[in-house]
Amino acid sequence: MKSLVRTTLTVAGMLVAGGLEASPLPGFHLAAQSENFLFYTRDSRKVDAGRSQRFLAGTARLLEVQVQGKAAYYVHEHAEEVASTPGVYGSGVTDLKTGEINAVSAYHRHEIVHRVAGALGDPGRFFQEGLAVALGDEGRWNGVEVDKLAARVRRDAKARGVIEDFSRLEPNTAYPVAGSFVGFLIRTYGARRVSDFFRDCRPVTSLAEVASRPRTIPVVRGPVSSAPRPCNARRSRLASSTLPPPT
Ligand SMILES: [Zn+2]
Repeated sequence: MKSLVRTTLTVAGMLVAGGLEASPLPGFHLAAQSENFLFYTRDSRKVDAGRSQRFLAGTARLLEVQVQGKAAYYVHEHAEEVASTPGVYGSGVTDLKTGEINAVSAYHRHEIVHRVAGALGDPGRFFQEGLAVALGDEGRWNGVEVDKLAARVRRDAKARGVIEDFSRLEPNTAYPVAGSFVGFLIRTYGARRVSDFFRDCRPVTSLAEVASRPRTIPVVRGPVSSAPRPCNARRSRLASSTLPPPT
């Protein structure tokens, strides 16, 4: 985990086509499975079924959500293999719709948080990445507390717009700001209300459903900005990706 945090830098998200995995990626074989994962690897790469499943279960308990079914977790050898978009290299990417994880780490907490959050709803990349940083990366970015990093840009007008457009800031600023803000929400309102907020941002299926949904966090004031109607933010459908630092 710690080594992962040290080696991650994030980049603008990629849209990953939906669709359940019918057969494994070429060259991969099923190495293990658990209640919620099918772990695929190739060559000598190891999987970490026990820790990954336990972390998923613990995160799901915290957010009070049931994660249904099994989704593929591919352990790759190189970051270049993870990225499905030409020119984008990542150490991890998660498809919110299918739950599929592609990562170079056999135990990638950040991506597992995305898997759990995908079962809740999608308030947009700012909140998705914020939750993954707050819970998966334990509120740290490259080993530094995200609250300290976010404080440096508190008065930056550009940073204040990051909720609406996550890609507005470069990743080493955007991810800490998002992680700091969602961490603040969890400490202030509790994990249950944050997960309710994510649920409130499920795709709309009917007007009756919209009317039945309580607004869980109507006004949010945090260390960076206020969050007016964040469900209107562009939804990510994401996958999130994490990149090793440029060398
Ligand atoms: Zn992410």
